[in-house]
Amino acid sequence: MAPSGADASATLAASLKANRDRYLAVIEGSVPTAANGAMCTVAGRPVADVIREVTAGAAGTIAVGSCAFDGGLSAASGGATGASGVAPFVSGTLVALPGCPINAFNLAATLVHYLTFNELPPTDAGGRPLFAYGALVHNECERRAHFEFGEFVQAWGDEGAQKGWCLYKMGCKGPETYANCASAGFDGGLSWPVKAGVGCIGCTMPAFWDAMSPFTRRLPSPLPFLPNVTADDIGQAAVIGIAGVAGLHAVGSYVRANRQGAAARRAKAAAKLVPSGAAIEGAAVAVAVAAEPMPAAEPMPAAEPAAADEAPTTILVDAVPGADLDADAGAGESD
Ligand code: SF4
Repeated sequence: MAPSGADASATLAASLKANRDRYLAVIEGSVPTAANGAMCTVAGRPVADVIREVTAGAAGTIAVGSCAFDGGLSAASGGATGASGVAPFVSGTLVALPGCPINAFNLAATLVHYLTFNELPPTDAGGRPLFAYGALVHNECERRAHFEFGEFVQAWGDEGAQKGWCLYKMGCKGPETYANCASAGFDGGLSWPVKAGVGCIGCTMPAFWDAMSPFTRRLPSPLPFLPNVTADDIGQAAVIGIAGVAGLHAVGSYVRANRQGAAARRAKAAAKLVPSGAAIEGAAVAVAVAAEPMPAAEPMPAAEPAAADEAPTTILVDAVPGADLDADAGAGESD
């Protein structure tokens, strides 16, 4: 707006009245709440009051950047301003575009979505549009193949760094961060942090200054009395411990199963050597039957003498063609 001072306030009030429910409020920066909001005022009013007034008549509000999202750096540990994101002061629809810095591509895309569909884009539970914050940086990163192959940068400037290997071991927070930096890029898609050689710092995530730092190491220690032990160290120790217990349990189970199997095999072999009750009973019956005397054989009837006129007949077979069988034939003929 061209005016300044009291004229600017008058122009703002007139515009809000004339365009009620027909404008989008785009807000950047955190909202200091300490000292009754005295740390950030507009025309003598706490900025929180101005935000309430401006967003009350808006068709929707877009919170731009991590500070407007959840207070950003001003709300990090040690902050003295009681900084907050804009959400507590917005009564209507709110879309948040966190990032430090905000990706201008996502702001433009959100505005175009509203102009096209007359509504703001669908969001996740944190108010972040799904088209921009619906996927992990890690899943769209051009270095992901190196992660899968275990090719990691181990030190800044080493051979892996020169070859564009994965920055996970240098603290990259891509696996924990939802944003489209890898696919959209910055500066018209020219580059983004990981492409430029530094890890993702998770700047689109809630409270990332505290939750994601130190940015060049894996996750910080959750144990205040052991600040040099990172969450990764604890996680690895837990994984190793669980794996060790599981391994011991598996070995114990294997040994027990083998013992039981050996005992079962021994019992089976013993059962083969000692007949079962049924077998013993059957054998006793067989012995008893064998012990009973055999009944006396019936005498065979004596053969009756053949009648004289029933003398056996000799059958002559002509085994040798031309042989004289008359003598034999005659011997067979009785008188
Ligand atoms: S550089 Fe980061 S985001 Fe890319 S694959 Fe490695 S850990 Fe994931």
